[in-house]
Amino acid sequence: MTSILRIALAALAGLAGLFTLYLIRSPGSIANERALELGAVTLLLAVTLVSTVWDTMRPARSTGAAPAAPAALAEPTLRAADADPVQNEVGRLLSLLRQHAEANENFSNVLERAKGELHESLKTEQVRIIISYLMIENDKMKGRTSNLQASLETSQRQIEKLKTNLATAEAQGLSDPLTGLKNRRGFDVVLASQLAGARDGGRPLSLIIADIDHFKSINDRYGHPAGDDVLKWFAKILSSNVKGRDTVARYGGEEFAIVMPATPLENATKVASQIKAQLDAQFWQKPGAPNTMLRVTASFGVAQLAPGEGTSALVARADSKLYEAKQAGRNRVAA
Ligand code: GH3
Ligand code: MG
Ligand code: MG
Repeated sequence: MTSILRIALAALAGLAGLFTLYLIRSPGSIANERALELGAVTLLLAVTLVSTVWDTMRPARSTGAAPAAPAALAEPTLRAADADPVQNEVGRLLSLLRQHAEANENFSNVLERAKGELHESLKTEQVRIIISYLMIENDKMKGRTSNLQASLETSQRQIEKLKTNLATAEAQGLSDPLTGLKNRRGFDVVLASQLAGARDGGRPLSLIIADIDHFKSINDRYGHPAGDDVLKWFAKILSSNVKGRDTVARYGGEEFAIVMPATPLENATKVASQIKAQLDAQFWQKPGAPNTMLRVTASFGVAQLAPGEGTSALVARADSKLYEAKQAGRNRVAA
């Protein structure tokens, strides 16, 4: 039933009630007992319909717009245009809960009113009207509750999706797509956290910086895609030489770093020498051209965290050791 029809019915019922009152005040026109009964029923109808109209229009007035239809909420999509999808979702949830709280309050008022009208002198017909009215209100309340439940479930799915997207974006932002290692940002995050851990636990922390020798000439000779393959191959060799607690990162173009918690300088230097030895012992093979083989070498700078030192000072010391190794002729470890 539309709101306009409800208003019209409420007005009609109200007029009928007023007319009955007029009849009661005109002695002799109608038996008083019948008139009272008729008046009470029509007035009750008027009140019932007015409150239904009031209730129907309440959410529209309070939010300034019609509440979103559940069907529109059923299939949420992540639009790139959404400035802040999390904030939008939370706002939508809050508005739903507010509407539900208002509807709940309204339902309580209806029950309270009906309780006031249920006194002993009521006739069967009047009681039936009140009960029908309460059943209508109850059905509306049930509808609202199931709509709210559906919307809450939709929101929960939406939030889960946003969380997954956020975690993926975060992981992508910290890793290097070519080698799958941590990128420079990932390295900074790991180094800062490992440095704090080393300080708190009073344990040593070492850093290796490795740089492929004459990498530019590999690119020039075999092409950029082959250079990319050398980087992936080199990354695998580094990863296979460290323990689970160590972090290998691609620090720059052909520069890599290994963060080694609970490792003194001596042990970190051993790991760097081991990697160097492995490079000396094998060849890189060009993909699709097994006869094209190349010995790849690298230079290594190693440093251990000094007391009171920060991340940039540690990196600078490892970097200056790397520079020493390059200056001394490359393919070596400086610590
Ligand atoms: P050095 O022994 O002194 O380290 O010499 P180098 O040639 O290795 O160093 P240089 O800094 O002169 O050149 C590094 C080259 O690495 C230049 C750049 O084009 C290349 N490079 C950087 N990032 C990538 C990449 O992602 N893929 C490829 N194929 N090449 C890259
Ligand atoms: Mg290099
Ligand atoms: Mg370099």
